[in-house]
Parts: sequence; structure tokens; C-alpha cells
Amino acid sequence: MGTRLQAAPELDLVIFGGTGDLALRKLLPALLRLHQDELLPARLRVIGVAREDLDTDAYRALSAERMSQYLGAAFPAEAWASLAPKIDYVRVDALDASSYAHLAEVLNAEPARERVFYLSTAPRLFAAICDQLAARGLVSERSRVVLEKPLGHDLASSRAINDAVGGHFGEQQIYRIDHYLGKEPVQNLMALRFGNALFEPLWRRESVRDVQITVSEELGVESRGDFYDQVGAMRDMVQNHLLQLLCIVAMEPPASITPDAVRDEKLKILRALRPISGVDVNQKTVRGQYRAGAAGGQPVCGYLEEDHINPDSHTETFVALRAEIDTWRWAGVPFFLRTGKRMAQRVAEIVVNFRSVPHSIFGQSAESLNPNRMVIRMQPDEKVELHLLAKQPGDVMNLQPVHLNLDFAETFRSRRLDAYERLLMDVMRGNLTLFVRRDEQEAAWRWVEPIMDAWRTSGERPKPYTAGTWGPAASSALLGRDGLAWHEEI
Ligand code: NAP
Repeated sequence: MGTRLQAAPELDLVIFGGTGDLALRKLLPALLRLHQDELLPARLRVIGVAREDLDTDAYRALSAERMSQYLGAAFPAEAWASLAPKIDYVRVDALDASSYAHLAEVLNAEPARERVFYLSTAPRLFAAICDQLAARGLVSERSRVVLEKPLGHDLASSRAINDAVGGHFGEQQIYRIDHYLGKEPVQNLMALRFGNALFEPLWRRESVRDVQITVSEELGVESRGDFYDQVGAMRDMVQNHLLQLLCIVAMEPPASITPDAVRDEKLKILRALRPISGVDVNQKTVRGQYRAGAAGGQPVCGYLEEDHINPDSHTETFVALRAEIDTWRWAGVPFFLRTGKRMAQRVAEIVVNFRSVPHSIFGQSAESLNPNRMVIRMQPDEKVELHLLAKQPGDVMNLQPVHLNLDFAETFRSRRLDAYERLLMDVMRGNLTLFVRRDEQEAAWRWVEPIMDAWRTSGERPKPYTAGTWGPAASSALLGRDGLAWHEEI
């Protein structure tokens, strides 16, 4: 963001978990598109690392096969042919110290190169990987490490991971991924807020009625039941993605776009979140679990019938909550967060609802005029819109909603980078702005933990909702108590 930093031309990108789903479905396709756009460092070397017994040719073949499955006809065979020679494979068992010898040999053969270690493995391996890299002398001040979620399951475990990684890498070398921050509309929201004088006077309690942040999925737990049942929607989505989006909406203007200026402001928001605990938890949060229903027109089973799920599980597949930020700017403005699996649609969006006009001159009540709204949508399509009322041409004063396109997709014809492309570029360039700092992550855990504790100690089951709906009725009631409704219910 801002001034373009240059990546070092000579760079080694080591992907631990190089044969995994994330690496083959997201990271390598992102590298391939960056390569097509000639954005990669001139002498980049990508080293896939895993335990599987492959040589480099077999790894390149596996990568090509998976990518052509995911990308179908869009797989750019020609571009791949010129990227593939930059990709190697080294077999390492993260937990076996002796198996790092070959990796050390490969990296030390070119000692002047910058090194990025992308840890796309289960987090329980992070400490061992960092210890071994350091023990082999492979970590220098110029090295960086990228950490994928989930970074722990509570504050204590996230601290343990951060301590282990932080023992060998300084905070300025640690890139914690939250891929929502890499999405174009999220950055555009920052551009609109801080690049225009127009919005600032409106971006506050006097003009904003409520904010709604939704990340919903149509899919259920798919093949990841054993993982998901230990985690649930609060840890998987709210603690990280939804709270980061809330921060981008609510943060004060930073003094600059430098990483710590931005992250300091996000941290202040996380610290200003009013704690929800005790009796408030029932009033301000809803957790749900899907029952049998439909998805894409087909019948689907309920959560408790999915593979690898404890049939008596209390794990939530849905969360809605009413957050408040105790600052002068936001006092009294509810921020509603909602996420879930097996919901009616796959949507990721932020909706900022402005207040109604104080008085209507059009013969209708002021409340019945659609209030203005800004919609920042990340899924299924990417857009930023301002919803206004305008006069329909004709002989009567008929007001109709119109949607003003604020991302100017027609104006800017340049290709949008997807989140992983953008974040990989930033890691290679050494730009931390869109990555989460340790104190932010820990502040987020501190806020969600008492809610999860209260759910656990209540012994109550999550509220059931039918697969293919917008969640339990209690989610609508959560907004109803403020006289409000979710975006799609209006
Ligand atoms: P995955 O498909 O299970 O892949 C795991 C990778 O780690 C494989 O390459 C595996 O290869 C390697 N691995 C496992 N144990 C190892 C060991 N002892 N030493 C070296 N390599 C080892 O998992 P994934 O979906 O790619 O996810 C990786 C991480 O990213 C997870 O923490 C996940 O939660 C997170 N994440 C994934 C996604 C996604 O879309 N997939 C999104 C966000 C975050 P071998 O078995 O051959 O060693």
C-alpha cells in the first residue's frame, strides 16, 4: 500500500506444507498469476517442503496437476512452463532435526538470498520448524516468517506459538496472515475513508446508525469435521477475520500508512471493545448449529450427522453478536457481526447504515425513506457501493434507491490482485501493513474468550437453524431489540 517497495531480486520462498491444500490451491496459483504479470522477484526460488517422498520433477508435476484441476481451462500452461524451473522440492519432516540437513544445504548454497519461510502447516509444527531453522543458522535479520491461521485456540496457546516463533524472529519479521486484509474492497475502504474529506464527518455516531459485518458460507464442514469440531465459528472466523474487518471500519485515521501506524489504530479499537461477559452474553450473542436442510437445492444433513463430528457436539457453526466500541466516535453505535456455515448464501460484506433524514418533505415519514448505506462486498463479487435515493425521472417526485459504484471498476481496468497474490507480494517486499501484529491478535483473544467461557459454563446447546437459512431466529431478534434488521431482511 502507498509507496511501492521493491522485493529483493534474489529471494528464496520456502513453503512448509508445500504439498498441502493451501499451498497447491492458493499459494502456487497466486505465484503463477504474479509471474504472468511479471511481478515476482527476478531471481525467485520457491522451495516446497513436506514429508512426502518426491523429487523436484514429481513436485512440479503434482503442482501442475492440482492447479489445472482448480483452474480448469484457465490454467496458463505456457506461464507455468517458465515458472516451474524456479520451483524445487525438499523433503523435510518438521519434527525430525536430522531431516533439515538437505534444506540447509540448498539454502546455504546461495547465502546472499533473502529468505521467506511460509509456514502452511498445522500450527503445532511452528515451534519445531523455527527452532530447527535457527539451529541450522538459516535465520538471519533479513529472513521473514509467514504464519497461517489458526494461531492457537485461546489466548494462552496463541501466546505459546508467538513466544516460540518470537524466540527466533523479531516482531518485524513475522507476517501473520489474515487474508481478508488482502482483499481489494477492504483496502478500498481505507482509500475512501482516508483519501477523501467527504466521508470523515459522516463516519461517526452522529451519522452512522449501525454497522453489520457478515461472512456467511453455503458449505458445511465438508471433509474438515475433525478440525472444525475442535474450533467452531468464534475461533475460526470471529476472533480473526470479523474483528479485523471491524477494526478497518472503526479505526481512527492513522498518521501514515506505515505498518505500525495502521496497526496501532486497529489495536486501539480492539482495546476499546466493550467486554461481553456474564448475563450480557445471552443478550448480546447468539450461537447456532445447523440442522438438516438444503444447500444449492439439494438436501443436506445436519452438523451432528456430518463425518467426524461428535454426535453430542456443542460446537457452534454460527455466531451473531452485538459489539460496542467505547470511544467518542462510536459510543452507542452497535456493530453486528455474523458468520456461519450452511447459510442461505455465500456472502462477505460490511454494511454501514447511516441514519434516516431528520424530516421528510416528500409526504412519507422520514423512517420510511430508505436510509443511506455503504456496502463493501468481498464475496461473492467484489464491490463498494453507496446506496442513495434519487428522483425517478417523470412528472411526480418519486424517490428510488440508486447504487453508486465507489470502486470504479469501469474506471480502473487494471487486474485486481486476489488476497493471496497481494499478501505474497507484500511479504516478498517486506511490507507488514496488511498483517496482524501480536498485540492485536492477543487483544482479540482477550475479547472473545469470556464469551466462549460463558457459553461453555452455561451448558446450553447452540440454537438450531435449518441448513440453507440465515441462522437461528434469535439472530434477527438480536437486531430487533434495537429496532433494526439484517441487511437482507430489509
Ligand atoms: P493440509 O492439506 O493438511 O496440508 C498440510 C501440509 O503439511 C502437507 O503438505 C503435509 O505434507 C505437511 N506436513 C504435515 N506434517 C508435516 C511434518 N511433520 N513435516 C513437514 N510437513 C508436514 O493442510 P492445508 O489445508 O494446506 O492447511 C495448512 C495450514 O493452513 C493449516 O494450519 C490450516 O488450518 C491453515 N489454513 C488452510 C487454509 C486452506 O484453505 N486450506 C486456509 C487458511 C488456513 P506431508 O504430509 O507430506 O508432510
